[in-house]
Parts: sequence; C-alpha cells; structure tokens
Amino acid sequence: MNVQQQGSLRRRRNFSSLDQAGIAALHEYFPIGMERRREYAGSLCRLSSNRYIYTDGLTNLAGFSTEPTPSVCPSGTTHMGEYHNHTPCGNPGPSSEDLGRLREFNRTNPDARGYVGVAADPLPYAIRYYWANDEVPIMQAMTEYLSWPQNRRVPCF
Ligand SMILES: [Zn+2]
Repeated sequence: MNVQQQGSLRRRRNFSSLDQAGIAALHEYFPIGMERRREYAGSLCRLSSNRYIYTDGLTNLAGFSTEPTPSVCPSGTTHMGEYHNHTPCGNPGPSSEDLGRLREFNRTNPDARGYVGVAADPLPYAIRYYWANDEVPIMQAMTEYLSWPQNRRVPCF
C-alpha cells in the first residue's frame, strides 16, 4: 500500500488489552486474507480510556506486501501495534521485514507489539511476536486457532 488511510472508529468492540485487540483483529482478517490470498494489515490503538481497538484491515493489489502499511490509528488514540496475516504457503513466521519494522517501532514505543497470522501445515494458527530491547523475538502459538475445522483450511496454490 502506498497511501495510508486513517482507520475508522466504527470498530464494534474495544478490548482491555493489546493482546486481546491483536487476536481479535486476526480472528476477523486472517480468514479473509487466507480465502482471498492477500495480506491484510491494520493498526492497534490505545484509547484514552486505556482500552484498545483495531483499525480496518487493508490490502494491496499485489496480493501480498513485504511491508504492510496498515490503516493508521484515529486521532486522539495512541499507536500501540500492528497486525497482519500471511497468505497460504506464505512465510510461516514473521518475516525479517516484519521484525525490522517492529524493532524500529520499539525504539520509540517499547510496549508496541506486532501480531501476525500465519498458515502452518496442516492447520492455521496465529503467533504473536515482539521485539523489545533487542531481545530475541518471542513467538507463541495461539492455540484457539487449532480448533478450526478442516473445511476452513486453505490449500496451497
Ligand atoms: Zn509479514
């Protein structure tokens, strides 16, 4: 994406933690991205109430993006993270670009986090990664995705 778009505030829900917002965003956009074989990316934003929202997921025409430019946080909120999905047969973890982008983010906001949904054979799952103080990024399976039924699996090309 070449043009940043301000995320709308039409989000249905807000969340008590950044993790919850990131996971909810992936729950919404990961299936769409898998089915359409496109990466979707958005921002995670903290409200003045200390609750969190996610902005609309945006994609690009190429069907993938090595550096997703997510929809930006609405004014009056604090940018705290990003989320995006990888496509079927795509990178099974955060890419070097993903990690580098978050590392830059963490220079100005050590609490910022990135969330990426990846497809791993045979089941999709989501991982959280973060990079703070130059430590090794930590990834963890979001086991709720492992409960997805087989008919939600998207095959490779
Ligand atoms: Zn990525």
